[in-house]
Parts: sequence; C-alpha cells; structure tokens
Amino acid sequence: MLELHFTCPKQGKKFRSAQWSVDPDLETVTTADGRKHLRGLVRVPCPFCDEPHAYAPDQLACPLQAPNTYPTSNSQPPTSDF
Ligand SMILES: [Zn+2]
Repeated sequence: MLELHFTCPKQGKKFRSAQWSVDPDLETVTTADGRKHLRGLVRVPCPFCDEPHAYAPDQLACPLQAPNTYPTSNSQPPTSDF
C-alpha cells in the first residue's frame, strides 16, 4: 500500500505509514463550486502513541485527491501566496 505522511495530533511528530485504512463509507462528493472532495476518515496506527488516529483526507498530503491546494513535497503548512 502507498505510504502517506501523517502528523501525530498529540505529539506533533510526523511519520510515514503504509498501514492506513479508510472508512468503508468514504465517498467522493462534489461541492457547489465543482471541486471534488473526499468525505470520510483515514485511520492509521500511530507509532508514537500506540493507538490509531483518524484524519480527514483534506488534512493529508494525500494522493487520493488532486493536488490543487499546495505542494506536497514538503511539510510546510499551507500559505496564501497569491
Ligand atoms: Zn499519536
């Protein structure tokens, strides 16, 4: 499975994992302005907390959605630079 980048919400540490899974009810919805959007949660066991965390797909540098907001090549937070 594909490795994704995650940030532990409790310890603020970044990690990569291929052990993630998506909710069975994950679905693609199209918003009023025509953008596709995933609804549902991605779950991954955290190597730091030893417990699973859940993330909205929008929070991830996620290849499941088109890279239409900010570059995924680094871990900087999104910025408005236009
Ligand atoms: Zn954690």
